[in-house]
Amino acid sequence: MHLKKWQPNGSPLLKIVCSKPLELATFLLNLIFTYYLIYRYGAKMSHNKKLDFDSECVHAGMGEYEFGPVVPPIYQTSTFKFESVKQGISLFKGEEKGYIYTRLSNPTIEAMENAVAILEGGHKALGCGSGIAAIYTTFIALLKAGDHVICSKSVYGPTSTLLATLLSKFGITHTLVNSSDLEQVKDVLKPETKVIFIETPGNPTLDVTDLKAVAEIAHNNNAVLVVDNTFMSPALQQPLKLDADIVVHSMTKFLNGHADVVAGIIIVKDEETYLSFRKTLNLVGGVIDPFNSFLVHRGLKTLKLRMLCHSENAMKIAEFLENHPKVDWVRYPGLKSFPYYKIAQKQHKAPGGMISFELKGGHDAAETFMNSVNLCTLAVSLGGVETLIQHPASMSHYSIGKETREATGITDGLVRLSVGIENVDDLIGDLERALEKV
Ligand SMILES: *Cc1c(COP(=O)(O)O)cnc(C)c1O
Repeated sequence: MHLKKWQPNGSPLLKIVCSKPLELATFLLNLIFTYYLIYRYGAKMSHNKKLDFDSECVHAGMGEYEFGPVVPPIYQTSTFKFESVKQGISLFKGEEKGYIYTRLSNPTIEAMENAVAILEGGHKALGCGSGIAAIYTTFIALLKAGDHVICSKSVYGPTSTLLATLLSKFGITHTLVNSSDLEQVKDVLKPETKVIFIETPGNPTLDVTDLKAVAEIAHNNNAVLVVDNTFMSPALQQPLKLDADIVVHSMTKFLNGHADVVAGIIIVKDEETYLSFRKTLNLVGGVIDPFNSFLVHRGLKTLKLRMLCHSENAMKIAEFLENHPKVDWVRYPGLKSFPYYKIAQKQHKAPGGMISFELKGGHDAAETFMNSVNLCTLAVSLGGVETLIQHPASMSHYSIGKETREATGITDGLVRLSVGIENVDDLIGDLERALEKV
C-alpha cells in the first residue's frame, strides 16, 4: 500500500526534497562525515582485533590512564570515590560505566582480564584469586542440585577432589572418564549432564583430548564444554576456537610464568555468560587483587617467547630421556612415541613444557633421582621460567587416593618435569648427573 505513494508523481520524498532542502543537506553532510570518521579512524578503533598474537601479548588490555603511562598503573585501592550521590546511584544502577569497589571491578584487574580474553579469543574474562577459585566459580555458576558433570580422569588433583567432596555435598554428581577416548565420554552422558570439564593435556599423564570432537558431544546434549588450558596457554592452544564454551586457567603457571603469583581466570564467549559469571564471582568473592593482576599482565608480554622456549627445551630433554637406559618410558606430546601424537600435532602450535616419565626401578629410583638434581628444583607447581621437578603420587596427586591414581596411570615411579627456559645443555647435564646416582 505504502509503495504506491513512492511513485515519482507526487511522491512524499519529492515533497520533502522540495520543502526542506536545508534539513536534507544537513542530514546528507552528517552521513558523509560519519562515514569519513569510520573510514579514517575505524581501523585504529578496532586495532586490537587485527593484531597478531605476538603483538597482542605485548599490547592487549592497555587502557587510557592519567599521565600517559605505558603499562597499566596499579590501582591499589579497595573502593572508589563517587562525585555525588547521583553518580553513586547511577553507577549502582549500571547506567554509568565506572568503578565502585574492587571486589566488583578495578582498572588494573580489568586491563589484565581484557588482555587474557583477547589472547584466548574470548569475549571477556574474570580474574580469580587462584586457579581452583576459577574452577569452583565456574561450576557454581553453571550447576545446580541434580546436575551431572563429566570430567577428565587425568586432571589437576584438587579439581576432582572438589567434585568428589564439596560439590557432591550440594547434590552435584560427576563421572571421571578417560576423555581421550570419546566413546567413554558418550557412554556416561546423561540428560542431566550439564558440564563436560576437560583438561588437555591432562595432569600429569599428558593425555590429549580432541576438543572439537568433545565439543560436539557436549553441544548435542545441551551441555557446556569447559576446558582447563593451564598446561598449554593460549600461545599453544586456543580451546574457544575449537568450539569450547569456557576456558579456565591457573594463571599461577604459564600465564604469569614467574612463580611469584597465585591466580586464576575464566574466559567466556558472550556478554550474557559474562554477566551471570560476574554476579556469581561477586558472591563467591574469590577475586584477584590489583598487584597480582599487574604481575600477571607483565608476565603475558613474554608469553609467546616463553612458551616457544619451554617447548624447544622440553623437546630436547624428552628425546634425551627417551634414549637413556635408566628411563622406562617418557610421555611428551612432541615425541613420535606419544600415544596422542597425531591429535597433539593438530591441536597444539608447539608441544609445551611438561614432560612425565618413569625410571626403571619405580618409586625408589625416582626418589634417589629427585634428591640428586641441582639446577632443577624439587617443588610442585609448574609453568615458571625455572625448571621444577616433582613426584605426583606423593605430592600433587596424593589427595586423590591410590585407587584413582592407579586407574589414571599415575604410577609410583612417575616423575613430572616442568621444563624452564634455562640453557638446555645445563638442564640435560643436571638430569644426566642425577641419573648416574640412580
Ligand atoms: C595448578 C593448577 C590448577 C589450580 O590452580 P591454583 O592456581 O593452584 O589454584 C588447576 N588446573 C591445573 C591444570 C593446574 O596445574
